[in-house]
Amino acid sequence: MIIGAGQDTAHRAPNIPETGFSEITNERILYDGDGFWYCEIMITGTCSFSCSYCNRLKSEIKINQIYGFIEKYKISLRHIQITGGEPMEFIGIEKVCNTIKSNGVKIGLSTNGSADYDRYVGLGVDMFSISLDDYDVNILEKRGYKNACGVISNIQKLSQHSYVNVGLVIDSINVKRVNEIIEFILRLGVSDIKLSVNTHDNVMPTFGKNDYSKYPILNYRIRRFKEKKFMRGLNKEDTFKCALALSDISIVGENHYPCLVYAREGGIAIGSLDGDIKTDRKLWYKNHSPIIDSICRKYCMDFKCEFNREKDRTSCAKSPAQNTVEICHTAPNSASPKAVQESLELGL
Ligand code: SF4
Ligand code: SF4
Repeated sequence: MIIGAGQDTAHRAPNIPETGFSEITNERILYDGDGFWYCEIMITGTCSFSCSYCNRLKSEIKINQIYGFIEKYKISLRHIQITGGEPMEFIGIEKVCNTIKSNGVKIGLSTNGSADYDRYVGLGVDMFSISLDDYDVNILEKRGYKNACGVISNIQKLSQHSYVNVGLVIDSINVKRVNEIIEFILRLGVSDIKLSVNTHDNVMPTFGKNDYSKYPILNYRIRRFKEKKFMRGLNKEDTFKCALALSDISIVGENHYPCLVYAREGGIAIGSLDGDIKTDRKLWYKNHSPIIDSICRKYCMDFKCEFNREKDRTSCAKSPAQNTVEICHTAPNSASPKAVQESLELGL
């Protein structure tokens, strides 16, 4: 089945489950343009913290390549997420944020939260993502945090005027106190909590009966935990193609990847920022099947799977006559049932 030029989705309106992740929307499912909707930039590999679960990559961007990329794709770009390492350690972060803002693109900043409050405010960022894995300052500092009191204070102050999403990684150190930690973080006034489990410490937390419906990401993840669903990995029936690689781009150093999870887990770059980015990504998309890629099979995130499943369903419901790009799981380059079965047997 093929999609592309036509935008008639009357056959099947998109309806992804409520995940709370701002970048996963029905509007975006309908996006089928020649640019990019969402971009993640790993701006630096440097960070003064030493979190045990850190999987940052040691690479630096070339700033002129980033400016060139923004200039070329500013019309379609809705959101640029700056991450690291610690972006506040990147010399010139202020100028990068200014450039993004002046092109009318929303900015998200993933930070360890330890920089001066005034510097954060001066960036003009729309959304902050800050990690906080405990309420106990001593434990936080043993985990590798610096200035843990300052981090907590920044979360509280920034939450008064900005969207702040706290990343809470559950592991064997905090799993028994997870409910108390959630309550502590919510009392800081945050907008939401991005609950996750340390990839290499596969604990399964238990939750009380509190109503978290005001916090969509937290609510989504807790519901999944209660259903004993893992945050990462594909299900056997997930034979979709990774359409996110067409509307998203993740930049690490001088290269671009399908997503940051893929880069962090050792996946190969799709291409160079100096190349024909969109063409390279379309080719990668066409030849790639998540179900037979061991990184996707093991590490893809739940909300990204929701997007790809719905994109696949929506696209497959379109009329072939209106479409130009292969997208649904029955496309010729998708994994054959035999290949899928073999990869399952190999434990890929
Ligand atoms: S704050 Fe983030 S980048 Fe820094 S060490 Fe911790 S996980 Fe890694
Ligand atoms: S991990 Fe998920 S989002 Fe990333 S390339 Fe694989 S299927 Fe796509």
